[in-house]
Amino acid sequence: MGMKLFTCALLCAAMLCFPAAKARENRAYASDDPAIRTVCLTFDDGPTDSTTPKVLDVLERENVPATFFVIGRQIGRRKDILRRIYGAGHAIGVHTYSHEYKKIYSSPQKLLEDIALCRTAIRKVLPDWDSMLYRFPGGQAGLSEKLVSAVREKGYRICGWNASVEDAVSPFAKADDLFDNALRSAAGKDRVVLLLHDGVGYAETVRCLPRLIAHFRENGYLFQTL
Ligand SMILES: [Zn+2]
Repeated sequence: MGMKLFTCALLCAAMLCFPAAKARENRAYASDDPAIRTVCLTFDDGPTDSTTPKVLDVLERENVPATFFVIGRQIGRRKDILRRIYGAGHAIGVHTYSHEYKKIYSSPQKLLEDIALCRTAIRKVLPDWDSMLYRFPGGQAGLSEKLVSAVREKGYRICGWNASVEDAVSPFAKADDLFDNALRSAAGKDRVVLLLHDGVGYAETVRCLPRLIAHFRENGYLFQTL
């Protein structure tokens, strides 16, 4: 069996088995193959009652995995939503506990405290979860090296993005605009990490999601988690 055929067989198995844990392993294997284009859908600022369950519905219907960078202080009354994210095989990363830039970026110590609080909030609900994925609120650009290295030295894998629907920066954008933003920013990239949000007020993001997934699927991308 040729390597390519073998890889295809693995991919098919991964897609059929999702959300089984095995699928997670197979997807990780596939990501090492330079011949395969991949896309990671990443959602920041959840969990929320209004958006996250709708995002999860679409992902479930379309059978694709995603990565959620969560806000710790929002978990309290939404434990079931967090459990649903995890149970469906999606990846969960630390985003922040408070998402208050002034507070968390005032010193490396404050930043690490915020991260630790978020981590504790997740583990309280999901004791098995131990991911070291991390995404800076607002992104890494413009932050001091002191802040960035403090997080890195704690062993976190800092996750940025290289494409975006720009839902957080264009509050009046419609689903079609978000779709265009994603395509424009992902153009020519074989490894797409797409930024989206599942915070409050992102109905248009949910609306554009099925079309986005269809686009990447039709163009041969494999959906992965970070
Ligand atoms: Zn955020």
